[in-house]
Amino acid sequence: MGNDEVIFGEKNGLKYMQFKKLLELGVNHFYTLKSNGIDFATGGPIEEKSYQVAADVLGVSRDKLMIPKQTHTDCVKCVDSRTSPNDLKFTDGLITDVHGLAISSKNADCILLNFYDPVKKVIANIHSGWRGTYKKIAEKTVIKMINNYGCNPEDIWCFINPSIRVDHFEVDTDVMELGKEIFGFTNRTDDFIQLGRIFEGKQKYNIDTVLINRILLETLGLKPEKIVDCEICSVCNKDKVASARGDGQGYTRAISIMIMPE
Ligand SMILES: [Zn+2]
Repeated sequence: MGNDEVIFGEKNGLKYMQFKKLLELGVNHFYTLKSNGIDFATGGPIEEKSYQVAADVLGVSRDKLMIPKQTHTDCVKCVDSRTSPNDLKFTDGLITDVHGLAISSKNADCILLNFYDPVKKVIANIHSGWRGTYKKIAEKTVIKMINNYGCNPEDIWCFINPSIRVDHFEVDTDVMELGKEIFGFTNRTDDFIQLGRIFEGKQKYNIDTVLINRILLETLGLKPEKIVDCEICSVCNKDKVASARGDGQGYTRAISIMIMPE
């Protein structure tokens, strides 16, 4: 599973994936894989225990872990040591430059993007499902990094965690048309919209939401070689990766955590 960009580990019963380059840049982080007794589903009975295990494995104190209440918005918040870690409502992205703070995002098929600017020393962690992608949350994050922290887009790295990939992200005409309308300006709609199968008499389409995010970021000036994708499809790898479409009802959630380095 995955390509040369990632490595896998296990500690205290928690399995995880890490980006080699992000580790090399000094950012402690991981994306959790399916592990016995661990589930980050909001309000789930073992959610809190899972956060504690995750914090312990990364060596960060639980009260430094910021957990947004994701609702498919394009709201990205800048957090610092005064932010209450559990009080981030209607938020799908976090940015910080405070050493030692941990910021998280959660998924089961949606795209989670990790950003790092090693020059200005700023991290961001965002949830960009198809709704967030259509609301351009990735673009809003980078613009906030530029405006609030003085980042230069050419310095920013972006890491794409496991998510549903184009072969499995099947939509109806309405979602396809909306994508065409929103992203028509890129002149790349033919690249990310594929004609799918006909199911129950209806034409389906497959949308490459990872590519849409990549196009948005490159348009803003991120260097293509600094956008690193693990190339892991959550549905194809549902034995190891949280997947809503793969598992159906009662599916588990995974989290991505990044800790702001010195
Ligand atoms: Zn797949």
